[in-house]
Amino acid sequence: MALLEVSGLSVSYGRVAALSDVSLTVNEGEVVTVLGANGAGKSTLLKAILGAVPAKAGGIAFAEADITRLPPHRRMGAGLVLVPEGRRILITLTVEENLRLGAHMRRDTAAVEREMAAIYDRFPNLAERRHMAASCLSGGEQQMLAIGRAMMAKPRLMMLDEPSLGLSPLFVSKLFDLIRELNGDGLSVLLVEQNTGKALKAAHSATVLELGRVAMAGAPDVLAADPRLQDAYLGGG
Ligand code: ATP
Repeated sequence: MALLEVSGLSVSYGRVAALSDVSLTVNEGEVVTVLGANGAGKSTLLKAILGAVPAKAGGIAFAEADITRLPPHRRMGAGLVLVPEGRRILITLTVEENLRLGAHMRRDTAAVEREMAAIYDRFPNLAERRHMAASCLSGGEQQMLAIGRAMMAKPRLMMLDEPSLGLSPLFVSKLFDLIRELNGDGLSVLLVEQNTGKALKAAHSATVLELGRVAMAGAPDVLAADPRLQDAYLGGG
């Protein structure tokens, strides 16, 4: 079943067209990756799905409801969450306060506490530092916190904007393991990445954006073997 269906989406910033006629589907239980060079429109696509920038044309359906005109908080209430580029952790707040922010829309307090315990189980580094300022965390740990915070919203679809950016190779591996684990637990994922090779390995399907348009889309192994993708993003050969 399609969980997210973007059809013919166009977005402009003033007179600059950032996305033109973009279509993409995330089926329930899938990891879908969006690839493309800087400025291709990847972040704009995630922002438009969340409702942070308006659609100029086209539609967005989530869990079979048309959400094209809904404000972001209603979309989040329906189960969408975005881990933005650069993580946006509040470094003066504690680890735990950051996590709680992710649950601010929830009223089911007992379930929130269970979720918090599950996140601490998953991320022992965060548990150890739960009462420390988030500024004490390394870049990789801050990315885990950003993902933990997003999990606190109990999403059906998690959108991640270049989560591996600036992380050490060890944390990049941990991050992709985590994405696989969360997906194994039933979470659907829309992943924007510059780390093309790793993203294609983790994904069930992939879309390549170029100058705001879909340049290629399909199965990751087919895309990985495509000479155009090889030349542009996989360093040739
Ligand atoms: P990056 O990897 O650098 O984040 P991206 O693929 O995510 O790139 P976007 O950030 O979505 O690309 O940008 C798509 C286009 O829209 C670019 O031409 C960019 O300059 C432009 N753009 C993005 N945000 C704005 C904005 N707030 N105002 C005007 N133009 C913008």
